[in-house]
Amino acid sequence: MIDYNEKPILIFWETTKACGLACRHCRASAMENSLPDELTDEDAKLFINSITEFGKPYPVLILTGGDMMRRKNIDFIIEQAEEDGIPVSISPAATDLLTYDRIKYFQKHHVLSASLSLDGNKEMHDWLRGNGVYDKTMELIKLMNAMHMKLQINSVVMRKNIEQLPELLKNLIINNVKTWEVFFLIQTGRAIDSEDLTALEFEDINHWLLFAMNYGITIRTVESPIFRRIIDQGNNNYSGKLYYELVDKTIDLLGIPEKRNIPSRISNTRDGKGIIFVGYNGDVFPSGFVPYKLDNIKEKSIVSIYRNNETLKLLRDSSNFEGNCGICAWTDSCGGSRSRAYARYNDIFARDPACLYS
Ligand code: SF4
Repeated sequence: MIDYNEKPILIFWETTKACGLACRHCRASAMENSLPDELTDEDAKLFINSITEFGKPYPVLILTGGDMMRRKNIDFIIEQAEEDGIPVSISPAATDLLTYDRIKYFQKHHVLSASLSLDGNKEMHDWLRGNGVYDKTMELIKLMNAMHMKLQINSVVMRKNIEQLPELLKNLIINNVKTWEVFFLIQTGRAIDSEDLTALEFEDINHWLLFAMNYGITIRTVESPIFRRIIDQGNNNYSGKLYYELVDKTIDLLGIPEKRNIPSRISNTRDGKGIIFVGYNGDVFPSGFVPYKLDNIKEKSIVSIYRNNETLKLLRDSSNFEGNCGICAWTDSCGGSRSRAYARYNDIFARDPACLYS
C-alpha cells in the first residue's frame, strides 16, 4: 500500500505545448510550436533522475503535451527514464507522427502503455479535434492492437456527447479496448462553458459507468472522484432518468451484460494526492486541470515539492475541504474534484459542485 504523503503513483509531465491538433477543449491550450522556456534536455535529465529519490516502486511517468511526439528529442527522455528504471506511459496525439516504427521504438524501450483520445462518433470526434482525426484514431487503435501495445482510451464527457456514450462504449468493446478513462470536463484551457454538466447529470453518468463495467471493460474517471462513492453505493436503488435512458440504449446495442464482480475499491487518488503534474516549463500543479502553481522543479526537487509543499499537505487531508466534501462518508476516498472546485469558486478547498451530496 503506497503512502500518498510520501509519493505519487503517477507523475504527469507536459513535455511540450507543441501539437499539430487544435482540440476545442484543450486543457493545455496547445499550439503549433513549442515555447522557448520548455525544459531543456539537461533539465529533463535532472528531473527524471530526481524521481528515483521517491524510492521503489517508482511512480509511473506519463508523458503528455501538447503532443509528446512533438517534444524535441523525446527519445532522449524515453531512454533516460529507461536507464533510471522509471516506468513510462505515453499519451500522444493521433497524428501521422505516430507510426509503426515509432510504436516499435516505444516497445523496445519498455514503454508500458499508450493512451489515445476518442470522444464519440466520427462527426463528434472531428468536431472536437479536427477533420480526419477520428479515422486516424481508429487506424491507430487497430495498429496498436495488432502490435500488442497496451492501450487505454481517454474520452471527454460533456453535454454534447452524453447521448453517444453507449455507442462509444460499443466501439471500444468491438475494438478490444480493455481500459477506458472517462474525463469530466473542467472549465480550463479551451474548455467550453456551455458543455458543463449538472450535478444530476454527473450522478446519472457515473451510475451508468458503473453499469458499463459489467461489459468487462475497466473504467476509471478523471475529475469525477464521486465514481468511488457510486461504486460503494451500487446501482440497485438508483433510478435517475438519464441513467435509465443510457442503460436502455446500451442494452439495445450490446445486449444484457453478465453481472460481473466490480472491484469495490479503486485507488483513492485525487489532485495532489497520489498524482502530480509538471508543466512544460517545470511548474508543478496538483493536476493538469487546476492552474494553481505550487513550485518549479528547477528550484526544488519533485520529491521535496510533493512531500513538503504546504498546499499539497492540506490537499491530502480531506477534513480541510468545505461543505460536505470535508465531512461526508466518502470524504477520504472521494473528497471531490479540487480542479472543479477551483474552476467554479476560485478556491481549491471548496466543495465539488458536481456532487449532489456536496
Ligand atoms: S460530498 Fe464531496 S466528498 Fe462527499 S461524495 Fe460528494 S464530492 Fe465526494
